[in-house]
Amino acid sequence: MKIEDKKVVSFHYTLTSDGGETLDSSRERGEPMVYLHGADNIIPGLEKALAGREAGDTFQVAVPPEEAYGERREANVQRLTLKKLGLKPAQLKPGMILNLQTSQGPAQVTVLKVGRFNVDVDANHPLSGANLNFDVEIIDVRDATDEEAEHDHAHGPGGHAHD
Ligand code: ZN
Repeated sequence: MKIEDKKVVSFHYTLTSDGGETLDSSRERGEPMVYLHGADNIIPGLEKALAGREAGDTFQVAVPPEEAYGERREANVQRLTLKKLGLKPAQLKPGMILNLQTSQGPAQVTVLKVGRFNVDVDANHPLSGANLNFDVEIIDVRDATDEEAEHDHAHGPGGHAHD
């Protein structure tokens, strides 16, 4: 069975930077990644590379930022007022991830620098601007259920869980 729209795919991957550092690995976690093909569940460059392949296939692909998490934008580095956020300097330290409500909806930002009255945050995705090198092994390909196709995500082990 080939990977195409409305198939649920399980695969193992190891993600490395151009410098050879392992950034993420489903193999280390022990559970494969499960996604619904054709529903924007995973980054476009990886989804494109998986299309047409079958269970048992192994391959490597280098995905450029424009097909992954986008280019880094300096405009996404911002200085925010602690008072407006309802936070105190002692609650924050560089490297922390904050979930903020913005005019564009919820956003995840990384704390860069904490001052007495302000905090500098970076709203760029941590992997923005990076080439992502995937080493992939396809474990399983199956038809999506009607419910999965309707929800635009996979259910079951490794998939989306509903309460
Ligand atoms: Zn669902």
